[in-house]
Amino acid sequence: MKIAALKERASGEARVSVTPETVKKFIALGAAVSVEKGAGEAASISDSAYEDAGATVAAAAKTVAGADIVLGVQAPDVKLLKGVNPGAWVAATFDPFGDPQRVEAYAKAGLEGLSMEFMPRITRAQSMDVLSSQSNLSGYKAVLACADAYGRAFPMMMTAAGTVQAARAFVMGVGVAGLQAIATAKRLGAQVSATDVRSATKEQIASLGAKPIFVEDVAGIEGEGSGGYATEMSEEYQKAQAELVSSHIAKQDIVVTTALIPGKAAPRLITDAQIATMKAGSVIFDLAVAQGGNVEGSEPDAIVIKHGVKIIGYSNTPSHLPADASALFARNLFNFLSAFWDQEQGKPVLDEEIGDAVRLTQGGKIVNERLT
Ligand code: NAD
Repeated sequence: MKIAALKERASGEARVSVTPETVKKFIALGAAVSVEKGAGEAASISDSAYEDAGATVAAAAKTVAGADIVLGVQAPDVKLLKGVNPGAWVAATFDPFGDPQRVEAYAKAGLEGLSMEFMPRITRAQSMDVLSSQSNLSGYKAVLACADAYGRAFPMMMTAAGTVQAARAFVMGVGVAGLQAIATAKRLGAQVSATDVRSATKEQIASLGAKPIFVEDVAGIEGEGSGGYATEMSEEYQKAQAELVSSHIAKQDIVVTTALIPGKAAPRLITDAQIATMKAGSVIFDLAVAQGGNVEGSEPDAIVIKHGVKIIGYSNTPSHLPADASALFARNLFNFLSAFWDQEQGKPVLDEEIGDAVRLTQGGKIVNERLT
């Protein structure tokens, strides 16, 4: 059983799908691990660290030659996978809705693509969930980016020269990233409030010491769809939410938006007219910028200034903390494969619940019911 990890090719991608820690763990399961030269460089992991852990370090073609499983942060182009064993697995993120051509190419190549974004949200899969591990770091980094771009301090400071007021921070969308954004802004000393369409988050917001801002008494308030994901909201709800946000947002110094709906463009949460009501010098971080953006006018990897307000958004936020993001991503992949490891066969054997959820392609076909 050979497991291979390539250097990521996508621009701005600084993560790596395997770390010396997971190399050792895969070897302990009986696998051989091969890593492409320089794969860990952007995440501060040297080739010799991989070799010390027991991996073979080689050029791309040699790395994948004879591989049974290829790991990736973003699924590699099939052209890079020539020489893998027939029907080899590729466990990575595929952006299946955003990049259907890649899924088709995997089917055509006879590869078995396992999409880590499709990991079901069930308790036993929590340790395998790359969306959670990466969102958590993104929520943290978003607040730090705001603090850096903000021309004022976050905490209240009483100094001999006078008092510095605490920043007011508002988090929109309280999933994994939003909860971490709240916690981080609190730690930095801001006065924090937050909103979501799922009313279950009210308690979570309050438990972090932040103030919940919620639309009350409007049909469609229970915005919870399957698997803990948000659903699209009724028109009435969206209108009420826009009014509430408008009055609240004008008083905020920092806003972090995190709202995503799987398979759809990100919902628009902040309009240009609302930005115009904010104070000059305020900062907005749009964590959904790569999915179309929650904020009107946001652009990936740019600081856009509108009405004196800075709007920031990274196309790949976890890559701004590549070492921790890689460590968690690699552990998620290891937790996934090791949970299904069959000692007798010396390879992982997926069960239906998780296997069918994540498997995109098999036997030359697209087999995932979310795509077919
Ligand atoms: P997400 O990334 O899908 O979305 C971010 C947040 O934005 C969500 O809380 C969503 O409700 C919210 N949102 C969507 N549209 C909105 C709108 N119009 N206005 C305001 N907010 C809006 O969410 P996530 O981080 O993946 O987490 C969603 C839930 O799933 C959480 O309760 C989380 O704890 C749970 N979860 C469970 C598992 C597991 O059990 N394995 C794994 C991941 C997440």
